[in-house]
Formats: sequence, structure tokens, C-alpha cells
Amino acid sequence: MSRPQNVFTVDLEEWFHICASGLAELRPENWDRLPSRVDLTTRLLLDLLDAAHVRATFFVVGWVAERHADVVAAVRDAGHEIGSHSHLHRRVYELDAVAFRTDLRTSLRALADAGAAPVTMFRAPEWSINDRSLWALEALAAEGIRVDASMAPVKLVGSVRYPRYPHIRITDAGPITEVPPLVADRFRHVMPMGWGWGLRMSSPRRILQTIDAANRAGLPAVLTIHPWELDPRPPRVRLPARLQFAHYFRLGGFTHRLREVLRHASFGRIGDMTPVSGT
Ligand SMILES: [Zn+2]
Repeated sequence: MSRPQNVFTVDLEEWFHICASGLAELRPENWDRLPSRVDLTTRLLLDLLDAAHVRATFFVVGWVAERHADVVAAVRDAGHEIGSHSHLHRRVYELDAVAFRTDLRTSLRALADAGAAPVTMFRAPEWSINDRSLWALEALAAEGIRVDASMAPVKLVGSVRYPRYPHIRITDAGPITEVPPLVADRFRHVMPMGWGWGLRMSSPRRILQTIDAANRAGLPAVLTIHPWELDPRPPRVRLPARLQFAHYFRLGGFTHRLREVLRHASFGRIGDMTPVSGT
């Protein structure tokens, strides 16, 4: 049996795209006044992926695409696939269906204007398609999205009941392939593995073991990172404790650990995955 194609994904956003920070200085109307780091950090990431011969799927915030068409072009020209990470990086369950579709359309227009190929993939900010916002899957399908990667099978942001591997969800507007991020059972909890603080907390060896176990079961592993995690000099703001942890915990050595994971497992784009069958 050939090994399944693992997937590497990136949420391409600025360091200040933090949901619900409660900080006035991080509200969208102030974003243009904050120091931009997305050009530098995305280019660091592109170099890292290039050295590892990895082509990935980049979910790009539309607001970033509006201001950094050259970054979108660099991602596209390196052979990576481009999806939407919304326009203003708001949690889906805090919007209604009309506001969600308006934001999605704005992001798709911004990505097209920046030179991306027609977008059919989406990831919500902060894994915010969950039991509070399942209506969003139909809205995505109605807007031409065929792949969603927004539902995390962990308790904090999603549900441990969600399937852990790619599967098809049927909506009234058509089917949508859901591509969840890799998790593992550890310390009697379901933990992120190879994404967010999961990549910072676990050793590369542990992550590679989890990937290998999934692959031996015939299943792909889906990893994801943010360019700001590679920032050698991240701008600092005082965040509430929970966000402080998610955003800044153990960023030191991140590039080294990521390089180790990329070196010892193979990854591709979502579009390179074997098509998923069944529901
Ligand atoms: Zn995000």
C-alpha cells in the first residue's frame, strides 16, 4: 500500500490577527498603524519550504492580500496552493450567515485581485466552524468552496466527536470536503499535534511518531503553522493570559523544530491528497 499524502498548511496572516484580544489597538481600524511583519516572515517560511521541497496550501487573510499582492504572488509562484482565511479574521460563530458570506466574498475578491487562481478552499480563523456555526458549511458551498479546513477535533475550539481525518459533509448547497488538523491522545486528552502550540510543545520526534501512526493506518496527517511563528523579533503586546500562551508560548527554537519535521516526513498540498470518498 502506498503511503497517504500528508498535508502542510499555512494560515497567512499578520502577528496582530488575534481573535478577541479585547485590545483596542488590535481592532481592524487600527491594523494599518501596526508594524507589518507578514512580508518578512512569509519569505522566511517560503525559503524553509523550498529547502524541504514541500508545496503547501496557504490560507490567506484577504486584508493581507489587499496590501501585499507581492507576497501572494511569491506564494503562488513557488507552486503553493491558495485558499481563503476570511477577510477580517473574525470568528465565524460571532457572525450571522449574511455577514459571513459578505466577508468571504470580500476575501475572494481580494485574493483574485492579488493574482491568486480561483479559490475553492477555506479555513476559518481560530477553528471557528464548530457546533455553534455549522450553518457556515452550506454558506461556503454556496460560494463555490469545495474544501473546508476549519473544524478541529479538540475540545477547546471544536469537539472531540468530530472526525479526525478528511471526510465529506453534505450540505443543502452541495458536498464539502472537511480536512481536520492532526491530533493525538495524550495525558487522557485530545491534543493538537503539529499545529499551533502543539508544534511548540511536542518534540519533533513525537510529532513524527504521530504522523507515522496515522500513515500506517492509511490516513494523512495535516499540519499547519503561521508565518508569525517564525518571526526572529516578534512585536509584543500584552494579551489576556489564555491568548498570551497560544500566541507566544515557546516560540524559541520553533524554526529548528519545524525544519526537523519537514526533513523526516513528506508533505504536499490539499489538492494533492487522494480524493476522499463516503460521507
Ligand atoms: Zn488565523
